[in-house]
Amino acid sequence: MSLASAAGSVHVRAPGKINVYLGVGGRHDDGYHALATVFQAVSLYEDVIARPADDFSITVSGVEDDGSVPLDDRNLAMRAAKLLATATEHTGGVALEVRKSVPVAGGMGGGSADAAAALVACDALWGTGLSPARLHDLAARLGADVPFALHGGTAVGTGRGDQLNPALARGRFDWLLVTSEQGLSTPVVYERLDLLREEEGALADDPPLSLDVPIPVLQALRTGDPRQLADALHNDLQAAALHERPDLGDTIDLGIAAGALHGIVSGSGPTVALLCPDPETAQDVQTRLRDEGLDPLHVHGPVPGARIIG
Ligand code: ATP
Repeated sequence: MSLASAAGSVHVRAPGKINVYLGVGGRHDDGYHALATVFQAVSLYEDVIARPADDFSITVSGVEDDGSVPLDDRNLAMRAAKLLATATEHTGGVALEVRKSVPVAGGMGGGSADAAAALVACDALWGTGLSPARLHDLAARLGADVPFALHGGTAVGTGRGDQLNPALARGRFDWLLVTSEQGLSTPVVYERLDLLREEEGALADDPPLSLDVPIPVLQALRTGDPRQLADALHNDLQAAALHERPDLGDTIDLGIAAGALHGIVSGSGPTVALLCPDPETAQDVQTRLRDEGLDPLHVHGPVPGARIIG
């Protein structure tokens, strides 16, 4: 039995992510789009506490009790625990407590962070001792963004976003995150992108089924220079997200007017990430945006992936 399980519970913290670059190609026959993306894990965390139990249960705090987060087998943390039990033939259960800080359906991979945290927590609680490679494997079966929440840092995702390779990122990047109370459904945003592309018409070439992250994005990350990264920020889903939520464009404009270098819709939105040149400027911009009625969170990246903290 591990020390952690002897103590009766395992507490794991996993980060939310932003996509500093997101290229979306054509749709494969299985419905998934070809992606080339750069994830960065940021200092906004989900906490998952796993306690010994004979069967499986879950509680979730930090979100409205409005059914937006399922409390049954559809919950990604629950699915992660059950997948690990099946894969390791573990016979007991677990009582999971999820404390959410990442906005639900915010394009920041909160559910994926919960799944990664639950895998690490249950592996320690049950003493199943899986190798990093096997944990990665299970994470990939839970969802395209789950392996990244396990590893953290800055990484390139290709294929369907699930083929992950670490990216060299120097230094620290300061971000202001403007979250929305109302989430945006990822499938709805992808459907909108397909519609917008259809409207663009037959003149355009078919989007490619294999994509790479452009070199200037990787160079900007390597230099650690926020100004270079600001020039390289890009999201192919942004037009579709703005179609659903035009106010997000105003948020980006306000952020830039207040002193941010640049802004982007994170993933499928509606979270807006504003890149600032340094922590002090980020604080300044945060104050100015509060005067405009927004309430941005100041975070930094990259940070590590799912870690046991107690
Ligand atoms: P996506 O991975 O689709 O880009 P997202 O980052 O925008 O997601 P999440 O908060 O991860 O948003 O959740 C998207 C949906 O997944 C939620 O609306 C909810 O129905 C479902 N879900 C399942 N498990 C969880 C969980 N542990 N936390 C939050 N949502 C969950």
